[in-house]
Amino acid sequence: MNNHDLTRRDLAVVWHPCTQMKDHEHLPMTPIRRGEGVWLEDFDGNRYLDAISSWWVNLFGHANPYINAAIRRQLDDLEHVILAGFTHEPVVRLSERLVAITPPGLSRCFYADNGSAAVEVALKMSFHYWLNRGQKDKTRFICLSNSYHGETLGALAVGDVPLYKSTYGPLLMEVMTVPGPDCFEREPGEDCEQVAERMFEAMEATLARHAHETCAVIVEPLVQCAGGMRMYHPRYLQWLREACDRYGVHLIADEIAVGFGRTGTLFACEQAGISPDFMCLSKGLTGGYLPLSVVLTHDQVYDAFYDEYTRLTAFLHSHSYTANPLACTAALATLDLFERDDVIGRNRRLAAVMAESLAPLKDHPHVADVRQHGMIAAVEMVRNKTTREPYPWQERRGLAIYRHGLKRGALLRPLGNVSYLMPPYVITEEQIRFLAQVMMEGIDLACRD
Ligand SMILES: *Cc1c(COP(=O)(O)O)cnc(C)c1O
Repeated sequence: MNNHDLTRRDLAVVWHPCTQMKDHEHLPMTPIRRGEGVWLEDFDGNRYLDAISSWWVNLFGHANPYINAAIRRQLDDLEHVILAGFTHEPVVRLSERLVAITPPGLSRCFYADNGSAAVEVALKMSFHYWLNRGQKDKTRFICLSNSYHGETLGALAVGDVPLYKSTYGPLLMEVMTVPGPDCFEREPGEDCEQVAERMFEAMEATLARHAHETCAVIVEPLVQCAGGMRMYHPRYLQWLREACDRYGVHLIADEIAVGFGRTGTLFACEQAGISPDFMCLSKGLTGGYLPLSVVLTHDQVYDAFYDEYTRLTAFLHSHSYTANPLACTAALATLDLFERDDVIGRNRRLAAVMAESLAPLKDHPHVADVRQHGMIAAVEMVRNKTTREPYPWQERRGLAIYRHGLKRGALLRPLGNVSYLMPPYVITEEQIRFLAQVMMEGIDLACRD
């Protein structure tokens, strides 16, 4: 078996996500035979450094021996069991630990099997809470411009990335989209906190007008990842928490991408010192091993559903693979690694190396912004550095970086004109410098006219 053989068979039967399949007439696909640590190896023996943690899920490397062993042990005991009326040890232990490590007040874990499903759960649970409390008018949601919360219809509706959303517009519920605190939109002389303060006025005004019909505000804390790794100041979350309390509206923190250490703290909400009413987690939850997601909420929400059966106040949502024991075991092993090693401390050093090695790009004639929150560092290319006029999306400048990366042995997969590093935490300082070098070469190629 080699790359060519497997690719040919793939193209005959597989339909890939987020892909115009016709691209593969000229853009070769990369069939992966095995992974180890930060490395992926294809069928021809080429190796690629996984700079994007295989779509932001991997934390401690591929085929991590510790997580592998835990899953193997669990496999001999129980692969799966229904979670309604039944339970199992991995889900109980995982829930105890998640309650202990997430922001104060979050006391209940409701499981699903992917990030979008967790967002659906949070939206439905918030709506249903208000319904159970007799507030029938609360049916709407507020989200931020440039947000992304997944691609099932409910999750897509509360997102704002046109690439994913526009086509399916006619199918989606109507939401209120408020201009967000994205620091890329700063005016000359403004810092990120000032942008956040200025932009919060729009949120305050929307809440003032619509709180009576609003279930919840949903945000990605600190980094809007799929929206091009756009970042904002934690103060925004403090003002939002305070306003949601004042107006009687839930706050949903979608930490699916930023949770588990990505922004420099275990959860991004910690940097604002806030507890959301709902916290959605997935991606890094299992260390990037198996599909699992969870929505954490507090007692007040839980209690609003707790009643006699015949009052029909129970939450109505289920997935076949809810809290799969193997996935819960991968999550437990992942949490063990956070406990055993000083991951957050080591990441601080790695983040400093990311900052230092990408810094030269600030002077690049086609780079408008080099930004970072912990283990996420992004570089935004523009046609005009002064006016920040973007390259037209049709030019697909990022593709040159992707191709160059593969040639040099790095998996860099830009989001439009934004190239970024979001590596597994087991990466070394030297490997970060290598990735930065490859990215710089790629950007030079991409910006050639
Ligand atoms: C990836 C992502 C989702 C969706 O998760 P899936 O498992 O891909 O459905 C939702 N919200 C955010 C912030 C994400 O990054």
